[in-house]
Amino acid sequence: MEPSLFDKAHHATIQRFGRTIQMYAPLYLSNECIDTCRYCGFSRPNKILRQTLTIDAVLNEAQFLINQGFRHLLLVSGEHPKKVSLDYLTEITKILRPKLALLSIEVAPFEEDAYRKLTECGVDGVVLYQETYNREIYKKVHLGGPKKDYDKRLEFVEAACRAKMRFVGLGILLGLAPWREEMPELIAHAKRLMKKYWQTQFTISLPRLKPCASDFAVPHPVTDEAFAEIIAQLRLALPEVGIILSTREKPALRDRLLKIGVTQMSAGSKTEPGGYLHPEEAGKQFELSDHRTPAEVAAAITKAGYEPVWKDWI
Ligand code: SF4
Repeated sequence: MEPSLFDKAHHATIQRFGRTIQMYAPLYLSNECIDTCRYCGFSRPNKILRQTLTIDAVLNEAQFLINQGFRHLLLVSGEHPKKVSLDYLTEITKILRPKLALLSIEVAPFEEDAYRKLTECGVDGVVLYQETYNREIYKKVHLGGPKKDYDKRLEFVEAACRAKMRFVGLGILLGLAPWREEMPELIAHAKRLMKKYWQTQFTISLPRLKPCASDFAVPHPVTDEAFAEIIAQLRLALPEVGIILSTREKPALRDRLLKIGVTQMSAGSKTEPGGYLHPEEAGKQFELSDHRTPAEVAAAITKAGYEPVWKDWI
């Protein structure tokens, strides 16, 4: 009998990545943002409590995550280049990087020179989602701020590659556009980049739209079954690319998807700045669905026959 799509994806993942899942945690630095993105809780017009963490507060949050076992942190913020500046990021990186195995950033995009400085001071990866490859929809949901410029956003990804970031994360926000139209575009973009920047390792995230302070109705909802199919197709199209899954998804679905093609998972996440030590004191980006502790997620990964990897000294 011909193996199913899910079986093929599972085998392709095991062949390339083994039975391992990299563990990481997002650390929100700031929810201040100069962009107006209709689907996001941090969007500029939203009336939420805004906060940018001091460097000491960032280090305290990081220490909390380190104490839980994490050695791969993703620093996340709204896009506010003055509040989350190059100097702010380099200062945090210099202190934090020696305590970690991997440090990535998901903040406002920078030009190549700035990315180069970040690489030199220890940042390993940049995550920069295009959100959608449909230009019409992109225009309709990005109403204000520098992110409105579709082509410039694509160019920033290449700036990070030219600056020799070791890891570059691509992604679309599932639910913005019909996924059967988005996936070929995403895959083609990843293939172009992989050919041009063969030294860079690419990862892909596929966050599904969740309720947030914007009260934005999801235009093209993606079911759980479709989501599983998307992960499988992506794995088969790009066998060497890491696929990242966040705590936006429910535990049962996360446990299923890790057997199909996921290679990195967050756990115990908070999506508001300061949320690990002072929950709910600032506005969050979106609601989460997996509220298990990192230890509980790791136990579920082990139960599924995989090894949770906290420290990948790549
Ligand atoms: S998606 Fe990013 S740029 Fe847009 S409002 Fe949210 S944090 Fe700001």
